[in-house]
Amino acid sequence: MSTKQVYGILKTARLNLEQTSERLHLEEQMFKRLLEPKEKIEITLNPTLSSNKHMQVKAFIVRHRDALGPAKGGIRMSPNVTMDDIQGLSMEMTWKTALIGVPFGGGKSGICFDPSKITAEDKEIIIRSFTRGAMRHIGPEVYVPAPDMGTNETDMGHIRDCLAYSWGKSVTDGCYVTGKPVIIGGILGRKEATGRGVAYTIVAACEKLGLDIKKSRIAVQGFGNVGSIAAMVLSELGAKIIAVSDVTGGVIDEEGINIEHLMNFVKDCGQVYGYPSAKDCTNEDVLTCNCDILVPAATQSVITSDIANEIKAKLVAEGANSPTTPDADEILDKKKIFIIPDILCNSGGVFVSYLEYTQETQREQMTLEEVNSRLNNRIVSRFNDVYNYSKLNNLTMRQAAMDMAVSRVVEATYAMGALP
Ligand code: NAD
Repeated sequence: MSTKQVYGILKTARLNLEQTSERLHLEEQMFKRLLEPKEKIEITLNPTLSSNKHMQVKAFIVRHRDALGPAKGGIRMSPNVTMDDIQGLSMEMTWKTALIGVPFGGGKSGICFDPSKITAEDKEIIIRSFTRGAMRHIGPEVYVPAPDMGTNETDMGHIRDCLAYSWGKSVTDGCYVTGKPVIIGGILGRKEATGRGVAYTIVAACEKLGLDIKKSRIAVQGFGNVGSIAAMVLSELGAKIIAVSDVTGGVIDEEGINIEHLMNFVKDCGQVYGYPSAKDCTNEDVLTCNCDILVPAATQSVITSDIANEIKAKLVAEGANSPTTPDADEILDKKKIFIIPDILCNSGGVFVSYLEYTQETQREQMTLEEVNSRLNNRIVSRFNDVYNYSKLNNLTMRQAAMDMAVSRVVEATYAMGALP
């Protein structure tokens, strides 16, 4: 019988913190404080769908830490999402916001529902039901949600409207949600920011590793918001995207896949699998194919120890949150595969969310050029900081990123003094 450990997001996040705490010699009481969220809320929604069907839907909100500012983190809509997942993801958000240097803490929410099984009308009903149920926990100084797996800018627009409408106002007083449509207070470039940031960190890593991005062969798992944009930006930079997958399966072509064509195919057919200009393959084939760079941009715990043993890429860029299990992480490290850890690699989304927050608060307007240039400057400079820290202290990129992020949160917590 196998004795292999099963890792979920929370277990991985706790283990990462435990190891960081040991390296940083944190006081026991500080470690315990960081291990637990400040607040965990479970809400039961009872929306009535357009067919008149009454539903019961569970939703979760977790605020992990807010020493650096209001909790920030997306809303995940998935039939399998659990409170533990949301707790683990909110912890990751605390480190991510600290590392990229925005004045936010970590939060996350989840709605247990399969968004692929409902109409746009019914999704709006569920999102509005969530907003009404969660209203007391959302606010510019409390928790500011954004899109995550299964939610998008349309949903964020409904949240903003639901809040403003409930108060009888045309707009919210300040920024209650980011990732909104541009026309109602969103910011240019937010939708693409996470995938774009992933591509920028890959370019920065290629420079350090002596890889030529134009000659790189890249495999991308997940073709949603993060994966498709990362693939598009990387192919615009001259890289060859040789394999792509989504939840239905993958496609592979050694000569390179035309990402714009694939995007159009997915728009029409709803899936990657079956794209006629490339060969069908499995999700595992995409992760283990003969590429230079692997971008897991789908979901958590997909790079297990078995998969890690088969990975051929020289560089793994974690577009998804928590895609690598701790035992797989050790294997990748032994194989000298360079990892851009999730809290750095996919932090472009929360950075541009911060720009949206300031734009809305100050009634400012930023151009797309300004947004993309600020994103590039910030994420590349943070990449270099983490890289230099890792070299100086003989740490992996994940260890360096964690040490830097946790130190900032600890410093802010002590700076606030004794709490009542
Ligand atoms: P999305 O819902 O837009 O897309 C998810 C994609 O992954 C889809 O193509 C789906 O088919 C695929 N997928 C799901 N499960 C899979 C599996 N088991 N195997 C292969 N493919 C699978 O979600 P997204 O917003 O692109 O988020 C993807 C990841 O990036 C998540 O881990 C999310 O937490 C993380 N992330 C997203 C953002 C953001 O701004 N959207 C920011 C930071 C991190």
